[in-house]
Amino acid sequence: MYKNTNCGDITLDRAGDFVIVAGWVSRRRDHGNLIFIDLRDRSGILQVVFNPKISEESHNLSEKLRNEWVIQVSGTISKRKEGAENDDLKTGQIELNAKELKILSPSKTPPFEVIDDLNIDELTRLKYRFLDLRRPKMQNLLKLRHNVTHEIWNYLSDKDFIQVETPILIKSTPEGARDYVVPSRLHPGQFYALPQSPQQLKQILMVSGIEKYFQIAHCFRDEDLRADRQPEHTQLDLEMSYVHKKDVIELVEGLFISIVEKIVPSAKFNKPFLHISYEESMERFGTDKPDTRYGLELRTISEIVTNIGINVFDSVIGNGGIARSIVLPGCGEYTRKQTDELINFSKLSGGKGLVFIGLDKNIQSLDNIQDDQYRSSLKKFLSVDIVKNIYNFTGAKPGDLVLIVADQAKVVNNVLSAIRTRMGKELNLFDNNEFNFVWVDDFPLFEWDDLESKWVPAHHVFSSPKEEDLIYLEKDPAKIKAELYDLVCNGYELGSGSIRIHDRDIQTRVFNVIGYQKEDIDTRFGHLLRSFDYGAPPHGGMGLGLDRLVMLLGGQDNIREVIAFPKTQTASDPLFDSPSNIDSNQLRELGISFTDLD
Ligand code: ASP
Repeated sequence: MYKNTNCGDITLDRAGDFVIVAGWVSRRRDHGNLIFIDLRDRSGILQVVFNPKISEESHNLSEKLRNEWVIQVSGTISKRKEGAENDDLKTGQIELNAKELKILSPSKTPPFEVIDDLNIDELTRLKYRFLDLRRPKMQNLLKLRHNVTHEIWNYLSDKDFIQVETPILIKSTPEGARDYVVPSRLHPGQFYALPQSPQQLKQILMVSGIEKYFQIAHCFRDEDLRADRQPEHTQLDLEMSYVHKKDVIELVEGLFISIVEKIVPSAKFNKPFLHISYEESMERFGTDKPDTRYGLELRTISEIVTNIGINVFDSVIGNGGIARSIVLPGCGEYTRKQTDELINFSKLSGGKGLVFIGLDKNIQSLDNIQDDQYRSSLKKFLSVDIVKNIYNFTGAKPGDLVLIVADQAKVVNNVLSAIRTRMGKELNLFDNNEFNFVWVDDFPLFEWDDLESKWVPAHHVFSSPKEEDLIYLEKDPAKIKAELYDLVCNGYELGSGSIRIHDRDIQTRVFNVIGYQKEDIDTRFGHLLRSFDYGAPPHGGMGLGLDRLVMLLGGQDNIREVIAFPKTQTASDPLFDSPSNIDSNQLRELGISFTDLD
């Protein structure tokens, strides 16, 4: 071994010990006769002193050292001189008096300092990810991630689950997103697909008698990226036989409570988790991923704002739209600039704008509002009485700002939920150290896709309709609720799951609703349906995003911070410089040539 102890673990009780350590030079200070090095390994920092009186040779050599050189040092631990202690460091009471120094590997001058407080662009960080990951913050996040997976393994193994690995090269059976595909050399012109999730494989494992399965699985989706999405993400995938919705929820809730309690013991979180239906979530928060740490709930106010002489409201509502509101406490005296900013924001979120009404905070009673005590984008049309009605109905108070969006329900909800998320942050309505978990269930089985003019599954095609809704399957798909559940935390969807269809006929009927023809069904899903013919136990499960979970537990707002080698927003990897061209021989072997498709 190059070392017999870790730098960051040495404390005062080791004074007098002879140790051998190895690591990176984190900082070097030349104090004339003495040279000080901060030596860093994964465990932390150790101060090393090169004193010519102890070893002239090592002292001379230490003059050459620069940041990020890898060295090995041996010597004796001693207590630091009085006044030279550093209480911020675990090793701050001691130092290592170097006897022997070996340079194991020099370093070029790094493009950035290996420190937590870093202010450089992400591309450089990703290109030099090996340096970026050396930073204590990144080391801690990777350790946190390890601790989470370790707890998952322990918890689920104790509950009799077994881990089964499923293949990465499978068949293209899209689950909603675009597939990544891999050309086959042995079958020219044919392709494997990378799994969007092991969904069908884990269902087949249930038919194979595994009963309780889990896997930390890589999932690949060729989608446009956002801050919390990657082309390749990791999910805790699990499946259980002979379960109802309640059993899966209980299992996952127990696991998550255990993860939070063991891994972030200081975190505040709700136990048991909240439960709300999809409908309630849309009604109260305008989204199925509500951040339930704070209120700012939406209200439908179509009735209050129609037939009061305001055309925009009358025409939108007359055309099947709705008007909904959100109340921003304490924002009633927002300046023109601030309200303009909110209007712009609503447009960026897909709306056409919004109506605001702000009341002065010194108004004593809503019965006595003076004309100069409120501001509104529709001031000309809004009488004091209407303002009073709106404030009463929405529960707003003097000093509050009411925002109203009128449009088709989907647009209204998108805009207001985006405003709600933004204002929750801006108004400091939550504690950063708090996790609020909520189960959302009773989702519709299908959604209408306007672009394609057809029904699409709200989750995936394998989720079971509620038994009592089966009668609507062909007649009225909009009416069917699914045995579907999502786990949401602080506004992020952590995972989705469902009780699955385990009956060939029902599965075929669902395929038919979304327009799959017999050949489609046979080629894409024949393997799964065939397994259902040989005794399929009722089963259900979930897929839970590991990256997102670690991101939340680690207090980050970008999943790239918790993935060792992430891709950029344009799905490229600046470290390997991928994707990249492959050489013509490889292409020839695969039988691939390019033509200009335009
Ligand atoms: N396969 C699903 C997904 O990745 C999760 C599940 O239903 O288990 O979203």
